[in-house]
Amino acid sequence: MSTEYDVIVIGGGPAGYPCAIRAGQNKLKVACIDEWQNRDGSYAFGGTCLNAGCIPSKALLESSELFHRAQHEFASHGIGTGAVQIDVAAMQARKGKIVKQSTMGILALFKSAGVTGLQGHGKLIAGNKVEFTAKDGAKQVLSAKHVVLASGSAPMQLKSVPFDGDQVVDSWGALEFGAVPRKVGVIGAGVIGLELGSVWRRLGADVIVLEALENFLPMADGAVAKEALRHFQKQGLDVRLGAKVTGCEKSKDGVLLQFTDAKGAQSVVVEKVVVAIGRRPYTTELLGEGTGVELDERGFVKVDHECRTGAANVWAVGDVVRGPMLAHKGKEEGVVVADLIAGKIGEVNYNLVPSVIYTAPEIAWVGQTEEQVKASGQAYKVGTFPFMASGRARAMEAAAGFCKVIASKDDDQILGVHVIGPMAGELIGEAVLAMEYSASTEDLQRTMHAHPTLSEALHEAALNADKLAIDIPNR
Ligand code: FAD
Ligand code: AMP
Repeated sequence: MSTEYDVIVIGGGPAGYPCAIRAGQNKLKVACIDEWQNRDGSYAFGGTCLNAGCIPSKALLESSELFHRAQHEFASHGIGTGAVQIDVAAMQARKGKIVKQSTMGILALFKSAGVTGLQGHGKLIAGNKVEFTAKDGAKQVLSAKHVVLASGSAPMQLKSVPFDGDQVVDSWGALEFGAVPRKVGVIGAGVIGLELGSVWRRLGADVIVLEALENFLPMADGAVAKEALRHFQKQGLDVRLGAKVTGCEKSKDGVLLQFTDAKGAQSVVVEKVVVAIGRRPYTTELLGEGTGVELDERGFVKVDHECRTGAANVWAVGDVVRGPMLAHKGKEEGVVVADLIAGKIGEVNYNLVPSVIYTAPEIAWVGQTEEQVKASGQAYKVGTFPFMASGRARAMEAAAGFCKVIASKDDDQILGVHVIGPMAGELIGEAVLAMEYSASTEDLQRTMHAHPTLSEALHEAALNADKLAIDIPNR
């Protein structure tokens, strides 16, 4: 094994592995070190996202949505099924197969880009060197002209409700349940809590979601958050706002979760508790003495707008640095850093990071919310279009929700796009591209959209901003 590289990337998640691949494409000699271990002890590239996050959660969301639709929607299509069964073991096996295909795929990608994948622990030590500890414990010092830290994040623990891997689990544990629990208590109504709560609710569990804040989805556009809460409650998710979890008592029959809300001290007994109160940057044993890399007060590696740390030729990307903890944000950072190292140009547009919540209805947005635009004092206009008026959405039996476009009244530039409804995460791609090119609502209005497609909802919302929508009365 070579000990000298142009670039060493520590962390092989969605920030680290694309960085290594792009460095390889840039003809740099690159190694990517990753220590992810699955429950069975096997090593796998792909980090949280591929092994315990984005991919397995979407696999289960798909299965549970199909189960729900088979029970509640097939009849309206004239499809009779008899009693619909769920085989959780088969569902989990399918998820495992998808995860494995994804993580094994990285090895093939490394091979084609000439990346050396090293499985074990990486630690940056003084002098921009990396101490690599292999699976068998053997240590070796590697040197590189550039080191990229991409060590990711880990779930935050609630001190009063500590993880035990069985009754009280983190998001990874909630993706691994072997049977549908009778009742699940989800702590935190963030993206992860809502997605996991939706999975188990659709599979038949009673789900209570306890959220300390009074506002539901405060980062989303207010109208979207309101619509989302209405749908989730209709689906039977018992969302309690202003409910701060304070402790728990465990017995073999379940967990008594204690919380306080406007009515005072409350409690609820659940079979499983999913703690989804957020994630923290992961830097355990990442930095040796005298590296010059600094952490901020919340534990994130400090970087500038180009992901440079305070130490020369040491960069950091992904969840371990500031910004939204999202796979695509990390991927962009990783790729840009690999290009900057190679002397090319590159820049991450942090104003246009799309957000997606993969519930049903799906929620997605990019740019500013109406509340943010209003607070900025800028004159603006809003166009909306309900999916109820979309022939395609009605044909899909998925006509809940709407598309909303917010634009400047002065120059018509699009400031934000918000979608709640079918395939919102796919639809938002068009909005990101439009905004990346500083499009106006007129640009969207004059762009032909195929009929009948869901994307017409975005077109019509842009038209509605100027009271020119065709398929709804304009207000
Ligand atoms: P990670 O994916 O955490 O990867 C870091 C890797 O580095 C890990 O493999 C870790 O073992 C390794 N590592 C750490 N330290 C060392 C070291 N010293 N030596 C060697 N290796 C090391 N984001 C989305 O955009 N879309 C989604 O739909 C989505 N769904 C999610 C669902 C869940 C349940 C969760 C938990 C997260 C989800 N996320 C989603 C967030 C997403 O997973 C993260 O933003 C993303 O994984 C961050 O990528 P990363 O490469 O920075 O870190
Ligand atoms: P996110 O950071 O988006 O993953 O969301 C985590 C959510 O958990 C936030 O909305 C927090 O307000 C919420 N949260 C944090 N601590 C508690 C607690 N003790 N009880 C209930 N909700 C909490």
